[in-house]
Amino acid sequence: MSTSEEDEDYQVFLHPTQVQTLWDHVCERLKIDLGDALYTSWIMPLKVISYDGRCLNLAASSRFMKDRIQTHHGEKLLGLCREIFPNFEDYTIAVRQGTLDKSEPNEIARVDPFQNESITANEELSDDCVAALDTRFTFENFVIGKPNELAYAAALRIAEADVPPFNPLFLYGGVGLGKTHLMHAIAWQIRKTHPSKRVIYMSAEKFMYEFVLALRFKTTVAFKERFRKVDILMIDDVQFISGKNTTQEEFFHTFNALVDNNRQVIISGDKSPSDLEDMEERLISRLGWGLVADIHPTTYELRLGILQSKTEALKVNIPADVLEFLAVRISSNIRELEGALNRVVAHSTLVGRKINLDTTQDVLRDLLRSNDRRVVTVEDIQQKVCDYYNVKLSDLLSIRRAQAISKPRQIAMYLCKVLTSKSLPEIGRRFGGRDHTTVMHAVKRVEESMGSIREYSNDVNVLRRSLSL
Ligand code: ADP
Ligand code: MG
Repeated sequence: MSTSEEDEDYQVFLHPTQVQTLWDHVCERLKIDLGDALYTSWIMPLKVISYDGRCLNLAASSRFMKDRIQTHHGEKLLGLCREIFPNFEDYTIAVRQGTLDKSEPNEIARVDPFQNESITANEELSDDCVAALDTRFTFENFVIGKPNELAYAAALRIAEADVPPFNPLFLYGGVGLGKTHLMHAIAWQIRKTHPSKRVIYMSAEKFMYEFVLALRFKTTVAFKERFRKVDILMIDDVQFISGKNTTQEEFFHTFNALVDNNRQVIISGDKSPSDLEDMEERLISRLGWGLVADIHPTTYELRLGILQSKTEALKVNIPADVLEFLAVRISSNIRELEGALNRVVAHSTLVGRKINLDTTQDVLRDLLRSNDRRVVTVEDIQQKVCDYYNVKLSDLLSIRRAQAISKPRQIAMYLCKVLTSKSLPEIGRRFGGRDHTTVMHAVKRVEESMGSIREYSNDVNVLRRSLSL
């Protein structure tokens, strides 16, 4: 197994769980050496604080304990640490009151780290997760719309289920569309309703980082243990490990072990499993076994809904036309939309001026420009619509009124109205010299049909998306 490509940039660092596991090995050996009585009186009360890659920092409950350990068991301790901790040079013992407190979860975990299999008794595990969770990313704060309803429903199902309803759940979508938000929401919800379940949420990048360390320090056994003991494993942004073969291999095994044991696995990526590049075939195929839920680019309605919900949360008053303006103009993703809103709010608080369309445009000038990068022309729209419905451009512009042609034509006119700045008469002229009332009628028809016919709104959304990319 070669990892040279993967481990070069990483500085030496052991995860607390790994440190604890190594320390447990040291303890086991000391127990055999010293016998139960000595071990229980002197070594067991020691607590491991950290390992910086060279020095192991321990804590004892009193000066007396510390001196006694150093004079009587110091040599043995040194020898064993040298054997077990990678790059070990020395240890220190700090004196800390309360170290003896047996009720601390760490203490329990240290004596028998593998007891209470399914209980979140292990501080490190839950800390690991909580530290990485954003408190704002909850189900309550998630605004549901057409583009994300499937992903939302799937996430909620998992959070509430006792056994995995589908395994794995693969969430995918472009940046800033809510994948991480949904994963954190699952974790928060589970902590509330199933507090005894062990949850690990981690980016694929961190997974790789820790795995590389485990390889280097030969702690892969502890690494595997740690992951295979969880009830729910969430790995975010899996595309990060594309091309990283050793990490993929390990991930594949972890993944299989968990799924085979009926533990829930949730993965996110920026593409569907089959579109992920540089991924092993068998991993791709397994990723697609459960439910694959994609989050589509936002719609105007969703963006507006999100803006309304955020302004409520921020307790600020923003005129409706400003919100609508933002929802129309910042269409790239939700992260940018939030950023824009925050900027507008911050600006108005700072200068003490009311928010209106003018100040908004002013504050967001650079952002608006980048969201406008792509100018869509009438020709673009006509071409895309013809391709999509497989009709000839000459027919689209002709006077033929067959349904097979009039529907695409109306949709094309509608798209010209919403995506370009052309006036109705101008659009009419570009569609074989039609009257502006014809265009107006077409726009109205399309809007009505989108409201009532799902297939219709679907077509329009797909076309719209492909034009505004
Ligand atoms: P991703 O992980 O897909 O790149 P994130 O989950 O980080 O995106 O979302 C980006 C930002 O947008 C976050 O601040 C998140 O809270 C917000 N966001 C995304 N989707 C929604 C939603 N449906 N409702 C409310 N906020 C959302
Ligand atoms: Mg994310």
